[in-house]
Amino acid sequence: MIDTLLSYIAPHLCCGCGKIGALLCDDCKYNINNDASVLCIACGIGASDTGICKTCDVAYTRAWCVGERSGVLQRLIGDYKFQNMYAAYRPLALLLIEHIDQLPSTTVVVPIPTVASHVRERGYDHTLLLAKQVAKHRDIRLRQVITRTNSSRQRGASGVQRVAQAKVAFKVTGKINPAVPYLLIDDVVTTGATIKYAAEALRAAGATQIWVAVIARQLLD
Ligand SMILES: [Zn+2]
Ligand SMILES: [Zn+2]
Repeated sequence: MIDTLLSYIAPHLCCGCGKIGALLCDDCKYNINNDASVLCIACGIGASDTGICKTCDVAYTRAWCVGERSGVLQRLIGDYKFQNMYAAYRPLALLLIEHIDQLPSTTVVVPIPTVASHVRERGYDHTLLLAKQVAKHRDIRLRQVITRTNSSRQRGASGVQRVAQAKVAFKVTGKINPAVPYLLIDDVVTTGATIKYAAEALRAAGATQIWVAVIARQLLD
């Protein structure tokens, strides 16, 4: 509502081409969709039509990723996460929604929990907002059944540190129904450790079908 009102006063500029109107214009959105990632979400190397290659051993069986964290997609994510551009949740969520296949109506959307200090810094929970949009558009439930057991920061951490941090980072709260699929949502996957351990926590708690959807994949340099 406030978004809509504000857009009349200060119209958005496309973060790709600068055109007035939306944060992501149709042309730039088309280009992102056309570049869609077909690489394994877990290793970023192997290709697979399920989103996971044959050599990666993970607790989830299906993964969707909009694309590589580069170009327009990188700018949009950067504005959303680090420039306080709250309204970017809409085009980002739409990209994600358009990438995810048809889901059973029993599917439960589970956001990867954001570090509490990051939520305080931004004033919003960026992953929860995306997950809420996915659940709303697909008319399925959202449950925050995963919580963080530590508050370690990932930015700036090395690959090895990230894996070690993620390993103890999650616990499942609340009942898991083994008969329904769980769809984990995250914004960016780097080493894949966060998603890997979140999925393992869900599986250990009784989930039998776990899927993953993320906006972008980033390779560590
Ligand atoms: Zn554009
Ligand atoms: Zn792989």
